[in-house]
Amino acid sequence: MMREWENNVRKVVPYTPGEQPQDQRVIKLNTNENPYPPSPGFLQAAREWAGEELRLYPDPSAKVLVDAIAAYHGLQPEQVFVGVGSDDVLAMSFLTFFNSSKPILFPDITYSFYDVWAELFRIPYERPRLAEDFSIVPKDYFGENGGVIFPNPNAPTGMDMGLDMVEEILEHNRDVVVIVDEAYVDFGAESALPLIEKYENLLVVRTFSKSRSLAGLRIGYAMGSPVLIKYLNDVKFSFNSYTMDQPTICLGAKALEDEEYFQETLRKIINTREWAEKELRALGFESADSKANFIFATHKDHPAEKIYGLLRQSGIYVRYFDKDRIREHLRISVGTQEEMETLIRFLQENLSSI
Ligand SMILES: *Cc1c(COP(=O)(O)O)cnc(C)c1O
Repeated sequence: MMREWENNVRKVVPYTPGEQPQDQRVIKLNTNENPYPPSPGFLQAAREWAGEELRLYPDPSAKVLVDAIAAYHGLQPEQVFVGVGSDDVLAMSFLTFFNSSKPILFPDITYSFYDVWAELFRIPYERPRLAEDFSIVPKDYFGENGGVIFPNPNAPTGMDMGLDMVEEILEHNRDVVVIVDEAYVDFGAESALPLIEKYENLLVVRTFSKSRSLAGLRIGYAMGSPVLIKYLNDVKFSFNSYTMDQPTICLGAKALEDEEYFQETLRKIINTREWAEKELRALGFESADSKANFIFATHKDHPAEKIYGLLRQSGIYVRYFDKDRIREHLRISVGTQEEMETLIRFLQENLSSI
């Protein structure tokens, strides 16, 4: 029986994040975290953080962090918006920019938070089907719409789209906001960032969670024309001025300083990814070349759900999506070389028993 007041409840089916097991011994390849620690400079600053400032409200403009991000990318601070993880930035962007009665467009297989926000904010949406090889088909985004969003590289496929194709989508979408979610771009795809000077309606979204090993800190940001950033700030300051805490603002700026460590970490992950792709193929898995820190693989003989269950029992967590078209795939985050060697050895020894 429905209580009367329940008619007025905003009902939503929430996003399901990957498991965060408390057992420290598991090999965790299920949420695309970085297996390496944050930069030494960041850790040093975190250890020295005293905490006296916490008496005061944080700086609502997060100026120290905005300035650091702008300087890092060679932009003006007016071109940068920060949020509590890119999930916060993306949610604010949906609320700010997607207010048309025409549907927004994103791929049928993509980051599964997009349809959740669209439902939450009552935004109509359509999901053009990826090609059979799981690539995004640019011309599906050329028709009339209320806005466009896609990740590059796409998640959970790991496949990237060349800048020429991204620009083709922009050429055909001059009158709506186009958001490129670059959560994984540092692992080998081409960024759309240079295009923000040419397209005032382009928003490029990034995060510290994956490539900078700071999923626990919660920093995401958007880059675009000053007018887009102003609209985002207007909505943010109409919702909650103090979303980001002061330690995160100050320490986040530090996280951009160790460029050498950053590049070295990326190189290690990319090398391990390429090694693991080769090993998985030798075991009968198929996968497109990943440009992210995960591999999206299917096995020609063994059901994905079974492999997932067997790995889980043995303390190796990967991600399985019980969804149309991708039920036979596993998304395997790239861990350390040692972790991936353990995974491959386990599969070599146990795959035939499935
Ligand atoms: C991980 C991820 C995000 C969100 O990351 P945050 O931790 O909230 O910054 C956004 N988009 C995609 C495609 C992701 O995979």
